[in-house]
Amino acid sequence: EYTVNKIAAGEVVERPSSVVKELIENSIDANSSKITIEIQDGGKNFIRITDNGHGIPSEEVEKSFLRHATSKISKIDDLYSLNSLGFRGEALASIASVSKIDLITKTNNERIGTKICLEGGNIINKEPIGSSVGTTIIVKDLFFNTPARKKFLKSSTAETISITDMINKLAIGNYSIQFKYINNNKIMLTTPGDNSLQNAIRSIYGKNIANNLIPISINSEHLNITGFIGNNSIYRNNKTLQHVYVNKRYVKSKLILNAIYEAYKGIIPINKHAICFLNLEINPKKIDVNIHPTKLEIKFEDEQYIFNLIKNEINKSLLNSTL
Ligand code: ADP
Ligand code: MG
Repeated sequence: EYTVNKIAAGEVVERPSSVVKELIENSIDANSSKITIEIQDGGKNFIRITDNGHGIPSEEVEKSFLRHATSKISKIDDLYSLNSLGFRGEALASIASVSKIDLITKTNNERIGTKICLEGGNIINKEPIGSSVGTTIIVKDLFFNTPARKKFLKSSTAETISITDMINKLAIGNYSIQFKYINNNKIMLTTPGDNSLQNAIRSIYGKNIANNLIPISINSEHLNITGFIGNNSIYRNNKTLQHVYVNKRYVKSKLILNAIYEAYKGIIPINKHAICFLNLEINPKKIDVNIHPTKLEIKFEDEQYIFNLIKNEINKSLLNSTL
């Protein structure tokens, strides 16, 4: 019952960027090697995600919109050991209940694909349709039936910024997947998906950042950390270029960011923020289960150990690089 409450506490659909996040994670879970995201007007009226993943068999299409019908795990403790990002089986159901959806999907084993249309969670049409293998989902008119929530949406510009940030973080965390992002018919981003984190960073954040990175490889008993940190020339006024992933899942961890801040002390100006792209591979048993699934927060069992390790090792790498 503890687990169930923890899961239920996570409201999936807050704003367009949370829809985009859930849909991209489904595409990742479906083993896609290419994901295209298209939005209009901050995603408030139009979001389309196209992937080349394994698709949904026709007879299971309705079921994927049922709450908890598809949950991939039964215990939240499995969360960080899972290979899949989805685990609550409620994203599609939640999104469908507050929008109008068209989904087209086809698996490798099917000759013909399936199209299903829903409004406010109700199926209004299902028919066979020609399609390539994979899934396309269109989410229209978000919150059309919940005006109170619609009112809380920010400007198209603000919602677009939030979506762009979400896509950047997911594209960095899944750099072997090719991401394409189109905003109001304009291509904003194409990542190579060539298995190089540095190439993904270059395509998203540009040459100046990609060419001023220090590789990081920290190995300790319960924890491996890999990725890149910025050298002393590319710091920022804010924390938007701080990317921390735990077992490939993007997280917000004050502990880790504070450790990084300490590591850069005396190396970059005070009150400036380092740039980092770090993935922590950690034994799931060393992560506290007291996490919030949508807010991306995480707690570690041995915080002092992790803090010191990151602070000291990153500081060492920084000092070595300036020798
Ligand atoms: P969860 O990801 O937690 O299982 P979701 O509500 O996000 O729950 O998705 C429900 C189910 O729909 C998934 O488990 C998967 O079987 C199917 N599904 C959703 N999106 C896709 C996709 N892009 N490709 C293949 N299957 C998908
Ligand atoms: Mg999911």
